[in-house]
Amino acid sequence: MPENNVYFVGAGPGDAELITVKGARLLREAEVVVFAGSLVDRELVRTYAPAASVYDSAGMTLEETVSVMSDAVADGKKVVRLHTGDPSIYGAIQEQMAELDRLSIGYQVVPGVTSAFAAAAALKQELTLPEVSQTVIITRLAGKTPVPERESLAEIARIGATLVIYLSVAMMEKVVAELLEGAYTPVTPVAVVAKASWPDEQVVAGTLADIADKVRAAGIGKQAIIIVGDVLRARREGLKAKSLLYDREFSHEYRKGIIT
Ligand code: SAH
Repeated sequence: MPENNVYFVGAGPGDAELITVKGARLLREAEVVVFAGSLVDRELVRTYAPAASVYDSAGMTLEETVSVMSDAVADGKKVVRLHTGDPSIYGAIQEQMAELDRLSIGYQVVPGVTSAFAAAAALKQELTLPEVSQTVIITRLAGKTPVPERESLAEIARIGATLVIYLSVAMMEKVVAELLEGAYTPVTPVAVVAKASWPDEQVVAGTLADIADKVRAAGIGKQAIIIVGDVLRARREGLKAKSLLYDREFSHEYRKGIIT
């Protein structure tokens, strides 16, 4: 069994305090840090790993990234591969892990707060509301990375669940057109959160009819999450139903319905 010398760590959405306690500890212990400088806050690396050798993966190929990690492991050093948000969502970690497997280098993955949840927090919005939607779909439009045909946004939009769309704000018109082919209508509420949890976070709210114009007017072209669905309406129009979890009449494993 190879030792765990490489840690893939989710850095969270931006705010340095949103890394996990475990991720911060590993970063403090790291001797080598590889991170995507385009998205992860440099401050985070400076704060937690001031003495580590730091590599910015933004300008590196997969081979280069893997060779930095494997050289460090060969020197007995502890490596943190820092990913934005959670590494499992559009993180391109599988190919790195496959390379490490091939080299018999052990690794572990430490989750992080994905930007979808930072966006929901910015909006003060629950994504799953009783009788509105109990399903959240994380998806994207095809870009340089293709999307399987059966997962095209128009196809996904037929379900009508709460949608969280990554990597697509630069193609807002196309997002809207595809969503209108599904269960959503021009009055379906949409919110766009750019740079969620960063000091320059921006929130734009509207409907499918006007969101593309509003996003353009706000100058948002990248690093944004699009949230779509009727759950967003609940804030303006009140809740349809409350969750049974905290209902006085509803008993469950951990609580008797009526407290005496
Ligand atoms: N692994 C990351 C996603 C990487 S893909 C995560 O879990 O969040 C990059 C995309 O993530 C961006 O195009 C944008 O859609 C989204 N994103 C990353 N950070 C963000 C932030 N702070 N606010 C809003 N969207 C963000």
